[in-house]
Amino acid sequence: MAVHVIGVRRAFALLCRELAEVIHHAEEGSFANYTFETWLVASQERVHFKQPDEDWIRSVNFEIQVPRVIRLLRYDRLPKQGVHLSRRNVLARDDHQCQYCGRHLPLHQLSLDHVVPRSRGGPTTWENIVCACLACNVKKGGRTPHEARMKLVRHPTKPKRNPMLSLKLENPKYESWRTWLNGVYWEIGTRD
Ligand SMILES: [Zn+2]
Repeated sequence: MAVHVIGVRRAFALLCRELAEVIHHAEEGSFANYTFETWLVASQERVHFKQPDEDWIRSVNFEIQVPRVIRLLRYDRLPKQGVHLSRRNVLARDDHQCQYCGRHLPLHQLSLDHVVPRSRGGPTTWENIVCACLACNVKKGGRTPHEARMKLVRHPTKPKRNPMLSLKLENPKYESWRTWLNGVYWEIGTRD
């Protein structure tokens, strides 16, 4: 059961601490599991046969392939369900597109904007926060879109599943994730 999308750094931390193992999608639709050590050995065997859709990390002494799926070996409880309202999730929901001028921009040029400003009682919710470029954010200031005569590209809503996941699924690199998305968590679990 898929429970989270995490970054590469955290994934390797879990592997090194033996809290998780790599689940690797073999060609024939079968799966193999690896510890950090055996994954490192397997990576060495493939290091000269890298595929374009793979990611690799180079350290001083070795190169290791970034696993796409890891399995937690023990946990106390399943993570709290629901889509977490965070900067990166809002930016992912809005596809890194400024919701005022419509430009797609790199992360560092984007900010979060309260549609109805906080100073006017606007809540910090999925429905009142959008991705905005720095220029539009400054231009809008403490006004509502109507007052600033700025129209929203899309009406903001709470996503039904993790927007980081939706964004990544468009990339063929993450094809193997589909196997684990049986809907139990990502579809139903994130509904209100
Ligand atoms: Zn903008």
